[in-house]
Amino acid sequence: MPETEGAAELFGKKMASSSSVSASASSSSSLSEEELTLTVKWCGKEYTVRVCGDDSVAELKRRICELTTVLPKRQKLLYPKVGNKLSDDSVLLSQLPLKSSLKMTMIGTVEDEIIVDPVDSPEIMDDFELGQDETIDIKDKEVNKQKLRRRINQYKIELRNPCRKGKKLLVLDIDYTLFDHRSTAENPLELMRPYLHEFLTAVYAEYDIMIWSATSMKWVELKMGQLGVLSNPDYKITALIDHLARITVQSDFGVFDCKPLGLIWAQFPEFYSSKNTIMFDDLQRNFVMNPQNGLTIKPFRKAHANRDSDQELVKLTQYLLTIAELDDLSILDHKNWKFFSEDSAKRRRHE
Ligand SMILES: [Mg+2]
Repeated sequence: MPETEGAAELFGKKMASSSSVSASASSSSSLSEEELTLTVKWCGKEYTVRVCGDDSVAELKRRICELTTVLPKRQKLLYPKVGNKLSDDSVLLSQLPLKSSLKMTMIGTVEDEIIVDPVDSPEIMDDFELGQDETIDIKDKEVNKQKLRRRINQYKIELRNPCRKGKKLLVLDIDYTLFDHRSTAENPLELMRPYLHEFLTAVYAEYDIMIWSATSMKWVELKMGQLGVLSNPDYKITALIDHLARITVQSDFGVFDCKPLGLIWAQFPEFYSSKNTIMFDDLQRNFVMNPQNGLTIKPFRKAHANRDSDQELVKLTQYLLTIAELDDLSILDHKNWKFFSEDSAKRRRHE
């Protein structure tokens, strides 16, 4: 990736050591050489944030969120001579004249009471279709693999329940996948996708279940708790994963965040791999780092109108249980999941 002159100066160390970085990618000492240390002031305290030139402003805000718990969308970042560039999440840090010697100021408030979904407009943007070539390009780019390695080192998945030997892994998005977060209701149960508990109960026989949302852990726990997903006696959730586990990638469509399953595979290699993992998300771009493992689910919107008719989770239960017999799920094209279930049902009828 071409870098500006200023960035080359800032990240000169990275350029000089790039060959050794790829040779010993898992070593944190070589990784740190390419990083930039920033000081962020907030509420009278100073925080040290380590970032890289190919990180976006969105990534910087996530790092700050980890330290301060101020959600990225609540942060306003001030820095000398950058104008309002820090308000554009897609800007790469290498494009800004950041210096370790200057301090950044953050203005923002912690949300104690999260009553509405904290995700801003990016999530309601329509999903764009990434072409096959583009997808391959993104997942194979060294810069993205490196971001994933950094994330694996930074983000530790906490298990709520033990991984089970011999089970496959189902990773679920929340917003528009399990829950209509844009409608309002007195009781959140009214916004839950129909058959959610029946679905989770049935697939738990063959799959460990993780829930990965592009929101904060606080909201994930709150929402899943309210829906009764964390206390249901018929299934257990293996882990919850939040927005901080995502990585930012660039494509011809612009800069966006995605959910790299490699993060899970690296932390639980004896249980999960690209062969036994499937992820449901209403946004295709979320599985751009592992396109073979993603299934784009029909978004569950307008819960009040669709609550009685939405059958998606019933149909997907059948699909998941049918493919659970396979040793390698990555050979499937999940785009055709509806036909797969019909075909196999037909086959069974003819047996
Ligand atoms: Mg979603």
